[in-house]
Amino acid sequence: MENSCLFCRIVSGEIPATVVHRTETTVAFRDIDPKAPTHVLVIPVAHHADVVALAADPSAAADVLATAAAVAEKEDLTGGFRLIFNTGRDSGQEVFHVHAHVLGGAPLGPMLAGQ
Ligand code: AMP
Ligand code: ZN
Repeated sequence: MENSCLFCRIVSGEIPATVVHRTETTVAFRDIDPKAPTHVLVIPVAHHADVVALAADPSAAADVLATAAAVAEKEDLTGGFRLIFNTGRDSGQEVFHVHAHVLGGAPLGPMLAGQ
């Protein structure tokens, strides 16, 4: 837990979030500024800054993917979904506690803006 980290504070309950799924090692909650009908963030309970750091903790990485799959099922994303890990400056990553964006619920269009 890092006191200065927004998502660690969501894990601890200090900052409220709309949690849709929780396991011992992960939390999934609705993005505060949704970009699709379903926009859920999946995070590991353990603080890792980005997906590169998460990759060094294979068990946590697998748990994040399993929770993303569980969220897709729970949210009934039968048409498919997109999973995004923004990583570093060029991606526009804003919160440095790794999170998978689960996006779906409608056709999502081109993969990148401006395409
Ligand atoms: P990224 O740009 O990949 O770092 O994404 C950060 C995401 O966190 C953005 O989509 C924000 O809308 C979202 N976000 C920021 N603060 C909160 C919050 N308090 N609760 C839920 N989502 C948040
Ligand atoms: Zn954190």
